[in-house]
Amino acid sequence: LGMPDVPAKLADRRVSRKIQVGPVAVGGDAPVSVQSMTTTRTADIGPTLQQIAELTASGCQIVRVACPTQDDADALATIARKSQIPVIADIHFQPKYVFQAIDAGCAAVRVNPGNIKQFDDKVKEIATAASAAGTPIRIGVNAGSLDKRQLEKYGKATPEALVESALWECSLFEEHGFRDIKISVKHNDPVVMVNAYRLLAQRCDYPLHLGVTEAGPAFQGTIKSAVAFGALLSEGIGDTIRVSLSAPPAEEVKVGIQILESLGLRQRGLEIVSCPSCGRAQVDVYKLADEVTAGLEGMDVPLRVAVMGCVVNGPGEAREADLGVASGNGKGQIFVKGEVIKTVPESKIVETLIDEAMKIAEQMEKDGIAS
Ligand code: SF4
Repeated sequence: LGMPDVPAKLADRRVSRKIQVGPVAVGGDAPVSVQSMTTTRTADIGPTLQQIAELTASGCQIVRVACPTQDDADALATIARKSQIPVIADIHFQPKYVFQAIDAGCAAVRVNPGNIKQFDDKVKEIATAASAAGTPIRIGVNAGSLDKRQLEKYGKATPEALVESALWECSLFEEHGFRDIKISVKHNDPVVMVNAYRLLAQRCDYPLHLGVTEAGPAFQGTIKSAVAFGALLSEGIGDTIRVSLSAPPAEEVKVGIQILESLGLRQRGLEIVSCPSCGRAQVDVYKLADEVTAGLEGMDVPLRVAVMGCVVNGPGEAREADLGVASGNGKGQIFVKGEVIKTVPESKIVETLIDEAMKIAEQMEKDGIAS
C-alpha cells in the first residue's frame, strides 16, 4: 500500500485583499507579520521611541500606540516620523484624533466607526481623509467592548456576535466606498476566538489581524496564543498577529516570531532541539541546553542544534541537525552535518558546540543563507 502525498506545508493561505501598513504589506501573498503595542504613555515621546527601538530590535514589524488624550495625539507626528517601523494609532471615540493620526503620517489607524457614528458625518469624513492619505483602518472588535445590540441579541460575545459586529463596523466604511481595512475579532477564550476568525474568514476577504485578547501572564498567554494562532494559521487564516501578554512587549514579539517559525511560515532562525531527558541521561541535559542556548543567543542563522542526553536517540537527532551532541559516559560525540567530527569530554561540550556553531554560521553568512 502506498502512502498518499502529504504536502510540506499546512494549508494554502486564505485569499485576502492586500493592504499596505506603511512599507509592510498585510494580506494577499504578503508574509504573516508580527506586531506589538507600546506600554508607555504615548505622550512621553522619548520612552515611547525607546520602546519602539527595542521592539524593532526584537523583530517587531508594526507597532501600535494608544492614543487616549490630546497630548498623545500631539505626540503622534514625532513618533511616526522617528519610528523605524510603521506606527498604528489606536483610537477610541475621538474622531478628531483620527484626523490628527492620519495627518501625522501614522501608517494606519485602529478605530471602530461604531464608536463615532453618533457624530454626524464623521465616518464619511474619516473614510475620505484615510482614502486620500492611503491610510488603512483596523476595525478591532473585542469581546469586552462588543456593541450593545449584539450583546442583547446573542447574550454574550459569541463568535457570531463578534463577526456580526465587525462586519457591521466595516459596512459603515463601505457605505462610503472605503475598503482599505483589516479586521480583528478578539476574545480571551481561544475556542471562541478561533471560531470567530473561521466565520469571519468565510464572510469577507479583508486581511485578518489575529489576537487572543487579555491572554494573561507570559506562560498562559503564550500557550493560549500559540494554540489559537496555530489552529488558524494552519488553516491558512491570519495575515498579521499580535500576541498579547502581561509582560514586556518585546516578549510578545519573540513569541509571535516563534509561532510563525514553528508553523514553517517564516524561515527558522536558531533552533535548539533538546531531549526532555529521562532516566537514561548521562549528562545534565537541561543545564547543557540552557548553556548552549545562552551561548548562541542572537545568532541570526537558520541553524538547528541538537542537544541529546544519551546514545538512544542522541546520534539520530544529532545527525539530523546541522550540529549536535550525543552524550554518554562523561563524553560528547559532536556531529556536524551528520558526521561525527570529534568526541570531547563533558566539560568541553558547550564550548565545542558554540565554536562549531560559529563556524557554520560564518559559512552560512558567506553563502547568503542567514535569516
Ligand atoms: Fe532519555 Fe536519551 Fe531520549 Fe534524552 S535522548 S530523553 S536521555 S533516551
